[in-house]
Amino acid sequence: MSSSSIKSRITICTSIANSRGADPMGPAQQRPSGEIHVIVGPMFAGKTTALLRRVKSEGANGRKVALIKSSKDNRYAVDSVVTHDGIKYPCLALPNLQAFTQRLGSDAYNKLDVIGIDEAQFFDDLYEFCCKAADNDGKTIVIAGLDGDYLRRSFGSVLDIIPIADTVTKLTARCELCGKKAFFTLRKNGETQTELIAGADVYMPVCRQHYVSGQVIVEAAKAQSDHTLDPAAVKY
Ligand SMILES: [Zn+2]
Repeated sequence: MSSSSIKSRITICTSIANSRGADPMGPAQQRPSGEIHVIVGPMFAGKTTALLRRVKSEGANGRKVALIKSSKDNRYAVDSVVTHDGIKYPCLALPNLQAFTQRLGSDAYNKLDVIGIDEAQFFDDLYEFCCKAADNDGKTIVIAGLDGDYLRRSFGSVLDIIPIADTVTKLTARCELCGKKAFFTLRKNGETQTELIAGADVYMPVCRQHYVSGQVIVEAAKAQSDHTLDPAAVKY
């Protein structure tokens, strides 16, 4: 092989390496890389607490943060995200995520670094919003939501985000009946609509064994028109 052909190969390799490292949009339009982090788990697993911790720590590091929750969930406060143990953080309560940019205005949106989304299962446009915000706009998105409903079916669009996420964390609660790790949410009454927003009066976190035995009792109670589950009746 002649020295000139080696030289030309080296030149080609160098130009490929350079083109890989360069932003095809040019240096003037370089954007920070976006991220998507997903926190899932049953009710009472501390998802909102984990979301608030992350959002607060990003804010403490000088990044501009915003927090969104669904306007469907007004159990504790309209303009705050509140954990089950009473920790509060100001937020926008919105019917959908498209409304976020409209409400905020594009200048304020462009300045944001981090967007937290609580109760993400209630947003139908979650996938489109996260894709654009992370891929095109360089935002860090942290979402918290239920992965499954009371029948352990995929809830809303939360699971659709996993293929585009950087990290996925599944938190657990404590089974209300035996104290083991709880992965599921049992609905204690016989109501059948998927979105029934309530707290510990209607839902409890349970382990696999008590989910299965609890469902049997709820079904039996429903058949007898008794809409309340007596936890003491669940067989250990
Ligand atoms: Zn249990």
